[in-house]
Amino acid sequence: IDVTGETTYKKTTASALEGAIHLGIAYTVQAASHMNQREVLVQDFEMVESIFFPRKGSKWTPPHHYKDFNFTIYAPFAFCYFREKFGIHSDYKDSLCCKALIELSNSGASGSLFYLSSDDKFIIKTVQYKEKEFLQRMLPGYYNTLLRNRHTLLPKFYGLYCVHIGGKNIHIVVMNNLLPTTVPIHLKYDLKGSTYRRQASRDECARPVPTYKDLDFMRDLPDGLLVEAGHYDVLRSTIHEDCLLLHSFRIMDYSLLVAVHKIQQGKEESSPLVSDHSIGVIPVTTCKGEKMFVFAGIIDILQSYRFVKKLEHSWKAIFQDADTVSVHRPGFYADRFEKFLWDHVFKRIPLKSAFSKSSRI
Ligand code: ATP
Ligand code: CA
Ligand code: CA
Repeated sequence: IDVTGETTYKKTTASALEGAIHLGIAYTVQAASHMNQREVLVQDFEMVESIFFPRKGSKWTPPHHYKDFNFTIYAPFAFCYFREKFGIHSDYKDSLCCKALIELSNSGASGSLFYLSSDDKFIIKTVQYKEKEFLQRMLPGYYNTLLRNRHTLLPKFYGLYCVHIGGKNIHIVVMNNLLPTTVPIHLKYDLKGSTYRRQASRDECARPVPTYKDLDFMRDLPDGLLVEAGHYDVLRSTIHEDCLLLHSFRIMDYSLLVAVHKIQQGKEESSPLVSDHSIGVIPVTTCKGEKMFVFAGIIDILQSYRFVKKLEHSWKAIFQDADTVSVHRPGFYADRFEKFLWDHVFKRIPLKSAFSKSSRI
């Protein structure tokens, strides 16, 4: 936060960054409209395009009120191809370039900035250089699997960019938003399957809808969320597939974001917005018979054990029981993550739920 009260990231104000994103993505979409329709080739993943946006404007770029900046587009054709595959067309430009973005105050320890598009569809997150490098490298294999796995709860990346402004590089990814703002969210958990220090801080708890953690979940919902067998089985095999992929890329430190919308009694059938949402929406009940919808998705997957954390792991392991430290080798991380979900979070019930027909998963 700077003296005027505005958020800054690498000395760039959030509004200047937003302005650069608007202009850069508009350019990206415009350029993509001239690309021929064809299959993705290996070299598409290595393509990088950079465009200069001088303040006074140029032959290709409009004038603007910020400092001169460069906008770099990674794998423009490949991302354009994937957006089409995921049914994202002109809405990409409409959502990200034509309307103001909403700055979210997600208090991740990493200090990333998050923006939400005003139509709820997209999240923009600033990422570190090594996360950008990793996404670029895993992209071919990642999408190969993602496009075959219809139900996946893994994040869908729609674009990877770098804004070079004021002498700094700011890397950003665009991905799907998991939480609709049109449906009230009553409880929200970021679950890793670790119990070591996995409790929301006092500051976090003071927020209107805090993001709680593993230990909070076990305290709030000791009996877990009851899921009708059909949904449970799909959810379980989906998460297993997703974890296999994460493991194969040696990814760890990811979370399952679980957001709960409580259904008021007598209003079971009035959730059209919920059924329109295209990501994992799961009807659940509590052991007290309360009905809820759960929005769930795996987030924060750009940390690979190959690149990071080796040092951190070894010194932490000296002081802590290595099995409960969340920075652990990827196979162990995935196993513990899944085990926690099936032991504590989702419980299979053979009953047919009255409102199961309106869900997608
Ligand atoms: P850290 O590395 O410290 O965990 P981070 O900056 O990498 O933090 P994330 O873990 O990716 O941040 O996300 C922080 C919070 O932002 C999440 O707990 C969740 O509330 C929200 N969030 C992240 N991704 C999404 C998404 N795709 N849709 C909705 N909310 C999201
Ligand atoms: Ca995280
Ligand atoms: Ca992170």
